[in-house]
Amino acid sequence: MLLQTEQPDCCQDFDHVSNFIDGIFEYAASPNKRPFNIEDFKEHFGEAGAWFIKLSKSDKGPVRKGLLGLFSVSPFEVSILRKVFENDLTFHTSLDDQDFCFQVQCLPEKLLEILKDFIEPFYTQIFCQSSFKHITGLQNNGLNREIYLKYYKEKNQDRYQVCPVCLGDVQGYEETFIAQNEHYFPKQKYPSLGFSQHNLIPVCSDCNSPTIHGSKDPIAAHGPGAISNVFLPYYRTAMDSVITKFTKILGGFQVNICAVNQNDLILVERVNNLNRIYQLEKRWTARVSTHFDDVFARLKAHRENVESTEQDDVKRWLIQFLKSEEKWTRERRYNTADAFLQANFYKYLYEEYIDHLFAQLHII
Ligand SMILES: [Zn+2]
Repeated sequence: MLLQTEQPDCCQDFDHVSNFIDGIFEYAASPNKRPFNIEDFKEHFGEAGAWFIKLSKSDKGPVRKGLLGLFSVSPFEVSILRKVFENDLTFHTSLDDQDFCFQVQCLPEKLLEILKDFIEPFYTQIFCQSSFKHITGLQNNGLNREIYLKYYKEKNQDRYQVCPVCLGDVQGYEETFIAQNEHYFPKQKYPSLGFSQHNLIPVCSDCNSPTIHGSKDPIAAHGPGAISNVFLPYYRTAMDSVITKFTKILGGFQVNICAVNQNDLILVERVNNLNRIYQLEKRWTARVSTHFDDVFARLKAHRENVESTEQDDVKRWLIQFLKSEEKWTRERRYNTADAFLQANFYKYLYEEYIDHLFAQLHII
């Protein structure tokens, strides 16, 4: 995550949904609730229980299948799943805790599948395709993806059109509202975070595509405190911690992303992980090379306005032009797609590439 954004105001509703999920774990972990009895479930959870059961037409529907999965294992195993859920869900309170581990890492495959099947429908079937209703405490009865995006846009008025991951364009967001909801920790590997406001962030379609992020784990090596090694949506963002380096290559410019302080090994690891999961260097290399063509065309057009033919005058004008473009673009880095990358590129052009640029222009 490069850009700092804020969670939308409807996020307290996520906590009420999490409490509902936790209540179901507690219910399924009680030996006296075996075997599963649909009427007892409805009575226990009241309106929310009846609503939840009705989300699937039969026991084979995803919501009810996930629920019944909890009753296919022992109450003790459900209590393990509950502990994993409660621990992993609160990762955002343990960001600097050197003992914190995602406990899902320790789950046997069978229980991981049960957890996945139970939580996943809260996001896919309810949040994206329907809405939350009748859960105690909900401020927005009917919370769903559309409402979430509306609140996110409201909360981040000055920057919602910029992708927080790659700083590119969140295309069509204004009118058609198509920002993708990214699970930063993929829901396949972190089922407890399948429906967490701390793990969900609207991004551009490229960043959310299976070929870019897919289900890559942001944490490269798990262990106590490994969460220190990653940037995080809302809590730990990277824009002020990275620098971009440019190198001229055939047909364009190679971009490399580095930590501002190479001696800070944790920061270096965070930058490496960010680049690994979102392929930023590769994607930015393509973007900056296209941008150069545009800059060069503009320089050629403006060059004609410089009356002096003295080399020093032309060079001074060139530096001035690039500096003013840098300033203008940098001021817009939070609310204009690619402005951060382009501002850094302008700086590179006048600091390191100026003689080549001058020669190219001079010939023309
Ligand atoms: Zn993006």
